[in-house]
Amino acid sequence: MFKKILIANRGEIACRVIKSAQKMGIKTVAVYSDADARAMHTEMADEAVHIGPSVAAQSYLIADKIIAACKQTGAEAVHPGYGFLSEKASFMQALAKEGIAFIGPGEKAIKVMGDKIESKIFAAEAGVSTVPGSPDVIEDADHALKIAGEIGYPVMIKASAGGGGKGMRVAWDEAEAREGFARAKSEAANAFGDDRILIEKFIVNPRHIEIQILADKAGNTVYLHERECSIQRRNQKVVEEAPSSFLDAATRKAMGEQSVALAKACGYHSAGTVEFIVDVDRNFYFLEMNTRLQVEHPVTELITGVDLVEQMIRVAAGENLPFTQKDLKINGWAIESRIYAEDPFKEFLPSIGRLRRFNMPSEKSEGGITLRNDTGVTEGSDISMYYDPMISKLCTHAPTREAATDAMAEALDQSYIDGIQHNIPFLSSIMQHPRWRSGNISTNFIAEEFPDGFDYRIATADEKKTIAILASLLTYREKRRQLAISGQLDEHLEAPTDWHVVIDRETYPVDIATSPATLEWSPGDRLAKLIIGDTSNIYQVTPQPGGWKISFRDLMVQVFVCRPALSPLLAHMPEKVEADTSNMLICPMPGVLTSLLVKEGDIVQAGQSLAILEAMKMENVLHAVKKAIVTKIHAEQGAQLAVDTVIMEFEAC
Ligand code: ADP
Ligand code: ADP
Ligand code: MG
Repeated sequence: MFKKILIANRGEIACRVIKSAQKMGIKTVAVYSDADARAMHTEMADEAVHIGPSVAAQSYLIADKIIAACKQTGAEAVHPGYGFLSEKASFMQALAKEGIAFIGPGEKAIKVMGDKIESKIFAAEAGVSTVPGSPDVIEDADHALKIAGEIGYPVMIKASAGGGGKGMRVAWDEAEAREGFARAKSEAANAFGDDRILIEKFIVNPRHIEIQILADKAGNTVYLHERECSIQRRNQKVVEEAPSSFLDAATRKAMGEQSVALAKACGYHSAGTVEFIVDVDRNFYFLEMNTRLQVEHPVTELITGVDLVEQMIRVAAGENLPFTQKDLKINGWAIESRIYAEDPFKEFLPSIGRLRRFNMPSEKSEGGITLRNDTGVTEGSDISMYYDPMISKLCTHAPTREAATDAMAEALDQSYIDGIQHNIPFLSSIMQHPRWRSGNISTNFIAEEFPDGFDYRIATADEKKTIAILASLLTYREKRRQLAISGQLDEHLEAPTDWHVVIDRETYPVDIATSPATLEWSPGDRLAKLIIGDTSNIYQVTPQPGGWKISFRDLMVQVFVCRPALSPLLAHMPEKVEADTSNMLICPMPGVLTSLLVKEGDIVQAGQSLAILEAMKMENVLHAVKKAIVTKIHAEQGAQLAVDTVIMEFEAC
C-alpha cells in the first residue's frame, strides 16, 4: 500500500479523499493556490504545497506543478478528485513517466470515454443501448438538418468534448436545429477548444439514472447499483438519490450488466460511472461514461456501505476487490442536496464572499438515520470567484425514501448560512414538493414546477401570526437577558410580555404570557424552534435594528417588534427607497462578459437574454426585466467586469 498520496484538487472533494486516506493510515499531501492558502483541504492534509496563483489554469490545472509537488514530498500516487485534471489523459502519461501512480482508470479508458462521439460508438459495439442518432461528427448545418430529419424531432445537439451541462441544445424543428448547431459549435469551441458536434434523439420527459461501477486490475468488475439524478437545473444536477424510485429489478440488472460489459470492453479499472437517460417506458440509453469519482458518489456509499475512495486507492495499489456482485445489496435510501453559493431569488447567480456563519447540523448516525455533510469550507472561509460555487453536499440515509426526505427537509431547516447567498430555500422547496415526494420526477421537474424561476412565497395570515408570536418571544428573551446582565432583573422588574409586531406595515399584538407557544432558543442562536400544539418548526432568525429577519424555507419576513405604545409611530417611519437602477443592466458579480446578445437601438422584451457573464465556472445569462430600448452599451464583449459595473442602459419605450 502507498505510504503517501497527493490530492490534486481542492474543496470538498479534496477533503473527502483525505478522510479515506487518513482512515487507511496513508499520509496526505494537499496542493493549494493563493486563494486556498488557508482552505480546509490545505489544513487537513499532513503536508501542503503551494502551486501558484488563484486562477485554476495557472495552478490546479498545470500537470507539471502537481508532479513537482509529488517529487518534493515523495508522494507515490495522485488522486485527482473530479474536474480539473481528472479526465486528462496527458496528465496520466506525465505521471506514468515519473513512476507516480494514478488513482483512477487507465489511459485507454479515459481517452475512449472522454469523448461523447467516440464513447458512443464504442458503447454500441460493446452491446450497450445508446441514444438513437448519428455516430458521426456533424460537418455543417445542412448535415445537421439531414441527420436531424432522419432521427426525427426533437433532437439534442451536443458538444463531443462537453461536460458540466455545457454546449447542449434541444431543437424541435429545422430552424432550431440550424440555429442550435451554430450556437453549440461556437460554444464548444470557446469552452472546450474542440468544436465537434453530435446529434441524437432528444428523449422526452426522461430520467437521468446512472450506474456506479468498480473494477480492479485483475478484471473483476461490479456495479454498485444506480443513482437517480433527474433533479437538474439547466442540465446540471441539484439533488441526487439512490436507489431510483423508477427502476424495477430487471431494468436495474440490465443496466448494471451493460455497464459492466462496457467497463470490461475498455479494460477499465477503478471507479467509474455510466450515465443513462431513461424514457417513460423504462427504455434506457447510454449518455456517457465519467471515468472518475462522481460528485454524487456519497449516496452510493450510503446504500452499499462501500467506501469508493478507499477502493480506488486499493485498486491503484494493485489490490483486488474484496467483494463480488452478489455481496452488493441495496440498503435503505440516500439523498444528496448540493448546496451552492448562489442566489436562488436572483436567477441563481453565483454569490461570493466570506462565510460569516456556517452552521450546518452535525454528521450523525442514530435511530436508523444517517446525516453526512461533505464540505470544504468552515466559518470564515472565503467563497471566491475562482472556483465552482458548490460549498457542501448534504446527504441523508434512512430506511425509506420518505424517511430520507424527511431527514433532509429537517437538516435543511437546521442550516444557517450567512455572508453569502445560498440555495437552501430552493432545496427545501424541492423536499417539501408533493411531486418530489411522490417520486414522479423527470429531468424537467425544475423547469415544470418552477417555470418562472424561484421566489419568496408570501406568508399567509396564519403564518404571519405565528411569526409575530415567534418574534415577541425572541424579543422578550433578549430583553430579559439584557436586564439580567445589567443586574436589574428582580421581582420588581421583569421584561414586558406584551408586544406589537409589525409585519408589512400591519400590526400584530401578542401577549406571550397568554400564548400557548414554546420557544427553544437562547440569545445569540440563529436557529429557533417554535412549538405550538403538535406543530414544531425551526426558523432561521437574524437580529436586525428594531426587530428580526425571520426565514423559514421559502419564506423571508422582516419584522419590527416594539411596545404597544410605540407601534402607531411606526406608521410614520419613512419607507426605505432603493435607488432606481431599473434602466441599467448592472454586473451582479465579478466575471468575464463572454457574450453581448443585443446592440444599441435594439428593443428588448421582458425576460429576453441580454448578455452572458462567465463567473465561477458558470455561464450566467442576464435578462431584461421589462420591455425597453437599449440606448447605450458600456462594456465590451470579452471584458473582465467588476461587480456593479453598468453594462448597458435602457429607456422605456
Ligand atoms: P458529476 O458528473 O460528477 O455528477 P457534474 O456533472 O455536476 O458532476 O460535474 C462534472 C464536472 O464538471 C465536475 O468536475 C465539475 O467540477 C464540473 N462542473 C460542474 N458544473 C460545471 C459548470 N457549470 N461549468 C463547468 N464545469 C462544471
Ligand atoms: P455532461 O457531460 O454535460 O454531463 P450529458 O451527456 O451527461 O452531458 O448530459 C447532461 C444532461 O443533459 C443529462 O443528465 C440529461 O438531463 C440531458 N440530456 C443529455 N442528452 C439527452 C438526450 N438525448 N435526451 C434528453 N436529455 C438529454
Ligand atoms: Mg453527464
